[in-house]
Order: sequence, then structure tokens, then C-alpha cells
Amino acid sequence: MNKVLYTSNKIDRCSELRTDSSFINNIIKSKNSRFVPVWDTKNFFLKNNEDIDALIINKIDMELIFPNMLLENLIFLGKVNDIFYFSINLCEKLDNIPSYINKKEIICEELRFYGSYLGELESSLLALAKGMTFWHLRNKYCSVCGEQNKTAEAGFVLKCSNKSCNTSHFPRTDPAIITLVYFKKEILLGRSPRFPDKMYSTLAGFVEPGETLEQAVKREVFEESGIRIKKVSYFGSQPWPFPASLMLGFFAEAYNQDLCIDYNEIENAHWFRIEHLRELKHPKLIDGFKLPRVDSIARRLVNHWINKVVTN
Ligand SMILES: [Zn+2]
Repeated sequence: MNKVLYTSNKIDRCSELRTDSSFINNIIKSKNSRFVPVWDTKNFFLKNNEDIDALIINKIDMELIFPNMLLENLIFLGKVNDIFYFSINLCEKLDNIPSYINKKEIICEELRFYGSYLGELESSLLALAKGMTFWHLRNKYCSVCGEQNKTAEAGFVLKCSNKSCNTSHFPRTDPAIITLVYFKKEILLGRSPRFPDKMYSTLAGFVEPGETLEQAVKREVFEESGIRIKKVSYFGSQPWPFPASLMLGFFAEAYNQDLCIDYNEIENAHWFRIEHLRELKHPKLIDGFKLPRVDSIARRLVNHWINKVVTN
């Protein structure tokens, strides 16, 4: 069973409260608040033997683990039931990760290493905290005039401090398409040199300005594999905070199987039959291969297609 991670319907973002600074300042002090620490673009985790949990803590634990850390310049993430969540960027106050971190049970690491251990809500809070912090770190200065930006609206707006410029900047996410291309009972998987060893996945790429999603799907698949496609259909989406993408999943049918791979774009690609996918063996891959990680939309596309073929 695939998990859907990094997004949750349980989080009420309470965007209407972001402009109410006195309310936000009051709830920071409340016992109903929890803090999601981030250092640079890394999250914090609790390791208990083989179990990994997200480190999401109240004010008392915050003081114990990160003493003398002022609860200011926080980003208000939202509310779940009666609990309010904030992210706190520790690297603004600490040049280095505290020396006791990564030695005992608290780990500071990229979310991509431990995300698949977490549940829907925990992974979503960490992804939101990481995504917002990444945006703050990359937008310290106004992209219009170069002056410093200041935090507004509980962290969801960065406003230029130059009065004559006064530009408001809003959080950004980059749309990227990811496509499972099929031909009869085979699917096309490729690998990028950036992938983990032996992993093959569905083809993906960023949407360019002036493009529809369907045009981006057709362009990316053709650029990487030389395959022309039809019947582009939408599957679903998933935030992918590595660092700031929204993955938009599609199925598409190939006109033929004549691969013409652009080796500048991808390392390789092959057609895979259902038995190859189940046994993780392919005649052209001597050492076998791996499918994408279970927390990815790529894996859900593959699993969905396998189930569909089986039930037909
Ligand atoms: Zn400006």
C-alpha cells in the first residue's frame, strides 16, 4: 500500500489569522502551540531504536532541547484540531547544528532520508516547515530592487523594506510533470544520473512558461525518449519539497516503442513488462533494478498501472 506523504487535509492553514499579529503572538505563548524546528533546509527527527518520528515539540521541550532560543520570526503553519503549529528556523540563531544533535536520539537531516518513515500529518508538517523555510532563505532580498525583505503575514509574505519599492513576495512552488508512458502491457521507465543506484522511474520535468501541463508532458517525454504520445490523462498531484516542486502525475499512451534516448537528459530508459516490475528483473539490466521510493507519486503511478492491468 502506498502512503501519500507531504500533504494532509487535516491541516487547517487558517490563512485568515495570518494578518492578526496580536492573535499570532498570543498563541505562540499558549500551551496549545507546537514547534517544528528547521535548520537550513534540514528537519529534526527522533530516533528510538528502529523507529523514526518527527521532532514536533511544545514550548517546554523547545526550551530543553534548544535553550535560550527566542520564539520570534516564526512561520505560522496552521492548526490541527486545537493545536497551533509554527516552524522555527534555527540557522538564523545558530551557525552550527548543536553538538549534541546527531549523537543521541535527535537527528537533523534532510526530509528525503526519513520522510517515508513518517505518517501523513507528521510528514506534511515537516514538508510545509521545510518548504516555507527554504523560500525564506532564498528570498532574503527583494528581487526587484535588492533591498532586504521583511517577514509579514505570519511568514507567508516577504515585503521589501524599501518604501519606494514596497513589493510583496509570495511563496512559490515549481510545477513539474511526471508521466507514466504505456504501450499495450509495457511501460517506459528511465533513470537520471542523479537517481539512487539502479532506480528506474517515470519520466519527469519542469513546466516551462507559456506551456500547458499537457504540452509539458508531450515535450518532456519526446525530449528524453523520442517517444510521441497521445491520450494524456491526469492522475493526481503531490507536493515534493526537494526543494520546492509540485509533482503533477499523468498517464499517456505511446504511438510506438521506438526509443531515441537523449543521453544528455537521461542516463537510460527501457520498456518494462508487468513481470519485470513484479520481479524487479529486466533482461537488459543484469543486476536488476529498483522502483521509485514508496513516498513518491512515481511509485503510485506504477502501482496504479499494475493494478489496472491485473484487473483487466
Ligand atoms: Zn524592493
